[in-house]
Amino acid sequence: MEVLQADNISKQYGTGANAVHALREISFHISQGEFAAIVGTSGSGKTTLLNLIGGLDVPTGGEIIIRGHNLAGLKRKQLTVFRRRNIGFVFQNYSLMPVLNVYDNVAFAQSVVEAPAKVIRRKVPAMLSMVGLAEKYKSYPRELSGGEQQRVALARALINNPPILLADEPTGNLDPKNSWEIMNLLDEINKRGTTVVVVTHNREIVDAMQKRVIAIQKGMVVSDERKGGYL
Ligand code: ADP
Ligand code: MG
Repeated sequence: MEVLQADNISKQYGTGANAVHALREISFHISQGEFAAIVGTSGSGKTTLLNLIGGLDVPTGGEIIIRGHNLAGLKRKQLTVFRRRNIGFVFQNYSLMPVLNVYDNVAFAQSVVEAPAKVIRRKVPAMLSMVGLAEKYKSYPRELSGGEQQRVALARALINNPPILLADEPTGNLDPKNSWEIMNLLDEINKRGTTVVVVTHNREIVDAMQKRVIAIQKGMVVSDERKGGYL
């Protein structure tokens, strides 16, 4: 079953002489349970693409259909609710809340979907153990390494059990060891049933993982290999 469809999506920033065509008629379908990597050089349109399929921005052309819902057909509020239920998003710069400790950063994501306090108290520690951070629940983001902050960001993205996880260069700021650990976590999350789409520069890891690789260049898909590794 298709969980995510991008059909001829385009994105233009600005107009006239200042227009930037960040994406040009991009199409791909992602099935339930799939793990796909999106690769491409800096400026090729990867973040723009992830933001569009995550419902954080709107395309100037084409359609995005997630679990049977055309995002263009959802009103602003509906889109927010839809996104919270269906999509976990991991940003490259973690975007944790500095005034909240690890536990509260993750718990906050549960409170916005109005999860009962009892559920939050049970689920947050379980999720923190899954990402290997059970002991650091009282720490603040500034007290954590990059790898640890990225684990918190992952826990936060997954706490509401979204069927889809989107991650924008989750290893972009990490050393090789931490990069492997994060990618292995994503792999494990995928094996538990979550569809994962990850933007990455990390050629070595993508090669080794042997997953589907969608390569983009200048806003266009230049290859889409089922198990090809990075070209
Ligand atoms: P990547 O993530 O692959 O580095 P981006 O999606 O961030 O690429 O950017 C693709 C292109 O769109 C680049 O030329 C970038 O300068 C441009 N771009 C991205 N965001 C904006 C924006 N908000 N306004 C104008 N141009 C943008
Ligand atoms: Mg980017």
